[in-house]
Amino acid sequence: MRKPFIAGNWKMNLTKSESLALASAIAAGEVDGTAVDVAVCPPFVYLDAVLQAAAGRVSVGAQDAYFESSGAFTGQVAANMLVDLGCSYCILGHSERRQLMGETNEVVNQKLKSVLAAGLSPIVCVGETLEQRESGETAAVIADQATGSLAGISADEMAKITIAYEPVWAIGTGKVATPEVAEATHADLRKLLETQYNRQIADSVRIQYGGSVKPDNAATLLAQPNIDGALVGGASLNAESFLAIIAAACDQARTA
Ligand code: PEP
Repeated sequence: MRKPFIAGNWKMNLTKSESLALASAIAAGEVDGTAVDVAVCPPFVYLDAVLQAAAGRVSVGAQDAYFESSGAFTGQVAANMLVDLGCSYCILGHSERRQLMGETNEVVNQKLKSVLAAGLSPIVCVGETLEQRESGETAAVIADQATGSLAGISADEMAKITIAYEPVWAIGTGKVATPEVAEATHADLRKLLETQYNRQIADSVRIQYGGSVKPDNAATLLAQPNIDGALVGGASLNAESFLAIIAAACDQARTA
């Protein structure tokens, strides 16, 4: 049984006071930590404040980390600094970073190794563009991103990683993948993990879906056998909608 994991990716949004209000409202909400894992991922500058507001009731993650642990890397933030603050998770390889900052699988892989070495739990994102889907390349693109990003990762390390399948065409567009379309890619990813590692790892790694997850579509997505949670962008910026998605995951966990 994989415990559902709902993470909110706040991206480059909100002021400090808005971040504190949102984190406090989520922390005050009904979150059954025995049924579901929950994390919020604010911008770097608000991590410390959000960690205080979350008061241990909700985990906190970063949206990226650099692959070096210290040195002359102006503007970068190291994974061990995130651990020092009290962060638990780190998103890596989000499609916005792949597309806008030119992050390759190799860079994601280097970052993944440093995040694991620091003791953070990584969320590694993969996803195809609309063009790739329409030209029938989805399976190949996902396999390439997953194998490239996870290169050289041991079975023990793999057990600490969450994969987020986020079709690029569904991110921030309101166009959600149907549960069947998402499930097919999640099942492919799990098969890939079995081939690269073993059945036990494949069965234990959580694979989140991301792409316009909202309170009204969360339950049907989370009911799919290989969808183990959600990486939520827009709907995580509102406490009511994020808590409703968390509640859907709790219901799913209880009925599974
Ligand atoms: C995301 O950015 O990870 C995401 C899934 O965004 P949204 O939920 O807004 O589509």
